[in-house]
Amino acid sequence: MRGLERRHWRWPAAGILIVGALLVPPLAGLGEQLNPDSSAKFPIFLGTSALVLSLWAISYNLMLGYAGIVSFAHAAYYGVGAYTVAILFQRYHVPVLAGLALAPVVAALVGFLSGLVALRAVRLYFSLLTLAISQLLYAIAFNWYSVTGGDNGIHGLELPDFLSDYSILYYFVGAAVGVCLVLMFSLVRSPFGAALLAIRENRERARSVGINVRAYELAVFTIAAAFAGVAGGLYALFEQQAYPEQLYWTANAQPVVIALLGGIGSFLGPALGAFIYTVLDNQLSKNFAYQFDILLGGIVLAVVLLAPGGFASVPDLIGQLRRRFSREAESAVAESSGHAIEASDPGRAARIKAIQADRLPADTREPLLVIEGLSRHFGGLRAVSGVNLTVHALDRHAIIGPNGAGKSTLFNLITGHLKPTAGRVRFGGRDITGKPPHMIAKAGIGRTFQITMIFPKLTVLQNLQYAMLAHRGRTVRPFGRADRMYRDEALDLLAAVGLGPYAELPAGLLSHGDQRAIELAISLALGSRLVLLDEPTAGMSAFETQKAMELVRRVAQEKNLTLLFCEHDMEVVFGTAQTVTVMNQGQVLTQGRPEEIRNDPEVKRVYLGELEETA
Ligand code: ADP
Ligand code: MG
Repeated sequence: MRGLERRHWRWPAAGILIVGALLVPPLAGLGEQLNPDSSAKFPIFLGTSALVLSLWAISYNLMLGYAGIVSFAHAAYYGVGAYTVAILFQRYHVPVLAGLALAPVVAALVGFLSGLVALRAVRLYFSLLTLAISQLLYAIAFNWYSVTGGDNGIHGLELPDFLSDYSILYYFVGAAVGVCLVLMFSLVRSPFGAALLAIRENRERARSVGINVRAYELAVFTIAAAFAGVAGGLYALFEQQAYPEQLYWTANAQPVVIALLGGIGSFLGPALGAFIYTVLDNQLSKNFAYQFDILLGGIVLAVVLLAPGGFASVPDLIGQLRRRFSREAESAVAESSGHAIEASDPGRAARIKAIQADRLPADTREPLLVIEGLSRHFGGLRAVSGVNLTVHALDRHAIIGPNGAGKSTLFNLITGHLKPTAGRVRFGGRDITGKPPHMIAKAGIGRTFQITMIFPKLTVLQNLQYAMLAHRGRTVRPFGRADRMYRDEALDLLAAVGLGPYAELPAGLLSHGDQRAIELAISLALGSRLVLLDEPTAGMSAFETQKAMELVRRVAQEKNLTLLFCEHDMEVVFGTAQTVTVMNQGQVLTQGRPEEIRNDPEVKRVYLGELEETA
């Protein structure tokens, strides 16, 4: 619903931007006729500059807004683009347009190499590394006199004759920026873009649906660098120069400020930001040269505080205010507290039946997951120590044990989130020991986490669609519309877990129990044969617990899933499990059918007794 509202004004806004952009030279020309002495070129010049800035800022937002990557090296790739054009022209007499064509290639190459280094670190350390890389590139530009002209930079590039007219140059830059924008726009809506959003929303979850997070981060970093290279090349074209300050680390503030001003939440937000920034920059530096930085800082601060989505979110904010007064949609944001388990429509039910039909027969009892001598030590602590465990196909296998027994660690070892110190894990006959999470997910092990892990800002439907795209290896596709893929299949799965009515809501709005159901549906979407549930009912009320476990049992049966879960609530354990393994201090204490475990004196002593005491 929110998505639809936003879309209402998107196309008109883009239209207005384009028409407005096309009108700049004629309007500026009007000024020239009225007053031949005026510097009528100036508005065109500003317009050109704003176009280049939009390209630069949108390319930055590919990382920040879509993948959640904070880089401080983007100015360097912009500079590399400018230098590519300038150096090729001055040293090798390559025409500037040919240089412009090479700018993204060189910038992408530099971006790829530096991304390779920086992405070895995560988050904050990654950002710091990009800063260091940026300074390194600046130092090269500044000191390598024979090639870059050192602190002087390179000036006096010659444009081909047909571009010597400022209006034509403006349209040329506009066309180049337009082509780049179309390419980037199709990229962010594609399955590749879906993978980026998934990473931004939840890295761990992204990995466990089969996305190779590092590879995608490196890819988007490189692509963003390429587009920054085009922007830098265009800059060299219309300014006819390249100079080292373009790469200086403070220059990175510009795309950040522009993106924040315009809004990082929408594709064209930074373009809007670029035009606002250009006007502000011009007005403020003309009228308040000395207070420029303070004023600009103040304005950015005000925007971020008052409209965190930037100027592009103003229509949304107005809509929200209007709604607050009319109150009509208050109830539309569904109260997702109850579980809509029976909410599927009859047409869907038929299709679900069809999906179930091609699953395995329900009586194979082959060993599906075989764990041998698995250990994981944290320093001196043996969190998991020599565990042997076999989970049979279609079993509902519970692991119980006191806090700190090593259950979560064991799950993390199975799913590749932790590497074992020793031991083997085989799944369906394949050795998966020490494989990364995205490969284990692909092999058919799904999981829910002890803390619920979904993509909160994506819709419930997108959560499933993107998981399917990732799992089926489609997220490498940089074209096509992710939101149109696997829609029906995802809707069917949502119906199966009773979330049909919430398909279009942001997943983060749903109740805890329903978010658990999303996780379960994601596992189903991944075609997982084995699903690991780490304390599936933690934090739920008795009613929610009962509903959630009913759902788990029903779905497991319908979809022929094997379950491995750990749980503190003994009612849940004995109500659901067919096999129970007891862990204590990192080791398997015993294993058996629920009745056997319930009456085992040793288990009573270490665990059940303890629970009764606390009860
Ligand atoms: P459970 O899920 O059964 O409550 P865990 O697997 O979370 O137990 O923890 C087992 C033991 O390993 C605990 O003593 C815990 O403190 C320790 N542990 C778990 N993860 C780490 C870690 N990343 N670093 C150090 N110790 C850990
Ligand atoms: Mg745990």
